[in-house]
Amino acid sequence: MRFDVITLFPELFPPFFTSGVTRRAFESGSVNVRIWSLRDFAEGNYRRVDDRPFGGGPGMVMMAEPLFQCLGAIRADRDDAAPVVLFSPIGTRLDHGSVAGWSASIGAILVCGRYEGVDQRFIDGHVDAQISIGDFVLSGGEIAALALLDAVARLQPGVLNDEGSHQMDSFNPALDGLLDCPHFTRPETWHGQPVPAALMSGHHANIERWRRDRRLEITALHRPELIEAARGAGRLNQADEAVLAQQQNQSALT
Ligand code: SAH
Repeated sequence: MRFDVITLFPELFPPFFTSGVTRRAFESGSVNVRIWSLRDFAEGNYRRVDDRPFGGGPGMVMMAEPLFQCLGAIRADRDDAAPVVLFSPIGTRLDHGSVAGWSASIGAILVCGRYEGVDQRFIDGHVDAQISIGDFVLSGGEIAALALLDAVARLQPGVLNDEGSHQMDSFNPALDGLLDCPHFTRPETWHGQPVPAALMSGHHANIERWRRDRRLEITALHRPELIEAARGAGRLNQADEAVLAQQQNQSALT
């Protein structure tokens, strides 16, 4: 798949494509990313990309024309109908389901906003979808674009060290959309605290049951709506329900 990124800060991107496990996806081209410097598409000596808002008020607004020119160059360079995505607080919140969708797509053209945002006429005419990464305001869409690219890259086959290990992560349907269980590594006792006995038992079924129980408890505690979703989808068995009932009884007692 291919992602084209339109940004005023192209220098922010390269370290993310050459570091950590996800570099495999970027270097192999399984997630092919091209960064487009918006300023290259601005006119005049000053290569202006922003201007004051009509109606007054603070801040600057990204002008439509440089974005339009840059988009034209990208369209000429890729002969598909990749959607144009703008990062914005008003967008749909990014979650595992949409990341999984993007990771199996042809990719997209990602527009990183800056200043107060983008001239609405460009959005109305050329943006197909808007994505938010949460209910807070960033200074620019670059971190949001990197969040999407990183999450998409780690879902590519062969990117994580263990094939399928992303299926063990939080929100993955392979584990019914539950949150992850706690993890422990050496030493066996750290500052007087031992590792839970079940994990040291070497008994595969017991270890899996322990992990499942912790996933259920943690999810019920932090994100009860995910338990409801798993239940609604018929993904919880009797043993699961017993753990959840026991947890409820315990919290009722305390
Ligand atoms: N005036 C806008 C905020 C602009 S912040 C508002 O109040 O909604 C500048 C740019 O940062 C935005 O154009 C967008 O591309 C990016 N951005 C800010 N917060 C974001 C978020 N939560 N998710 C995705 N992109 C965000």
